[in-house]
Amino acid sequence: MFNVLKKSFEVNGLMELSRKILSIKPSATLAVTAKAKALKADGKDVVAFAAGEPDFDTPENIKQAAIKAINDGFTKYTTSSGIIELRQAVCDKLKRENNVQYDPSQVVISNGAKHALANVFMTILNDGDEVIIPAPFWLSYSTMVMVAGGKPVIVYTKAENNFMLTKSDLEGAKTDRTRAVIITTPNNPTGMIASLDDLKVIADFAVKNDILVISDEIYEHLIYNPDKKHICIASLGKDIYDRTIVINGVSKSYSMTGWRIGYAACPPEIAKCISSLQSHTASNPNSIAQMAALEALNGPQDSVEYMRQQFKKRCDYIYEREESIPLISALKPEGAFYLYVNIEKTIGKKYNGEEIKDGASFATILLENKLTAVVPCADFGTPNYIRLSYAISIDDIKKGMDRIEEFIKELK
Ligand code: PMP
Ligand code: GLU
Repeated sequence: MFNVLKKSFEVNGLMELSRKILSIKPSATLAVTAKAKALKADGKDVVAFAAGEPDFDTPENIKQAAIKAINDGFTKYTTSSGIIELRQAVCDKLKRENNVQYDPSQVVISNGAKHALANVFMTILNDGDEVIIPAPFWLSYSTMVMVAGGKPVIVYTKAENNFMLTKSDLEGAKTDRTRAVIITTPNNPTGMIASLDDLKVIADFAVKNDILVISDEIYEHLIYNPDKKHICIASLGKDIYDRTIVINGVSKSYSMTGWRIGYAACPPEIAKCISSLQSHTASNPNSIAQMAALEALNGPQDSVEYMRQQFKKRCDYIYEREESIPLISALKPEGAFYLYVNIEKTIGKKYNGEEIKDGASFATILLENKLTAVVPCADFGTPNYIRLSYAISIDDIKKGMDRIEEFIKELK
């Protein structure tokens, strides 16, 4: 069988596969996590500041809703865009929390926010269409745009602007192929939150140039800076509402990363196309997980606040520790659960003769010598940074920061 396949795909003696897919690498966040898990399975005492995944169990009421769905036999295909009750619950949530009015026909439920985003890019892009992506960016955006035939246009933001896009950044990146701009607030990896003024700059630009805004709000409930609140850009007025695709999901707020439920809320014509695409590629999101997500959105919300408070304590602690360590620097995260660390001053230094050349070598040498996993940020567009997810226990954060401190002190 393989030989037959090989023959029909063979070009110049090599197996010919999709060039687009051959050009991509596996997700670095997931790769670091897999490496840390493998070391742990080998009995190594690894601290993994790796994938952004809450360490809490999914709240009990949500688990019970899923068990009930199974016992009730809710185990068949559903409508492609997701059950109407869940799409209505998303609309109610968007009204209640974000002050934006949507109809269920504007909402598509997918297998996680990642899948919702991939659907969006497939739906809105024609070959060569450009998407402005502010760097640092969550690494999957650029790959997803490229796979959908688009061109990622990376715009480097500055720490002094809290890593937010400015008007001149946007004007400088615009061409007649610009189709969309992505914003992530609270941000992965920087932890920064867009202010009303930051959002107005983006909304004005999008409306003036008739460009779509993809607003990834997956970390909206995880906010620690009391002076900041989450604002959904679609709430700023009708013109920007008509050009916004809101992306969100239950992975982070409800500690449901494995359940795979996310969604897009957008103009009805876009939702219709996404749903049509999804009907061919995934049929529907998992029926049982949809029932669990329904309970997450409509049920008691106290676990969200409990988890937020725990993350806030961890945020304060990890930032304080980082600040006391020489040669590395970071802005205090305002939300999400990442510390985005500049390691430039360690470049050229050596650990046991091994030279740090960038964030990737910093991460490798640290893991090999101190059993502490961090995510190098080259795939986020910034090779001299690393990212620490503090969605792990405070004891592990303490142990990991002790090790990073020791590592830096031992650099020559
Ligand atoms: N957007 C951002 C910014 C993320 O960090 C992640 C990572 N989980 C996602 C989207 C995807 O989330 P999900 O688990 O719902 O696919
Ligand atoms: N979004 C999380 C992260 O950035 C989970 C892993 C992934 O999907 O990239 O670590």
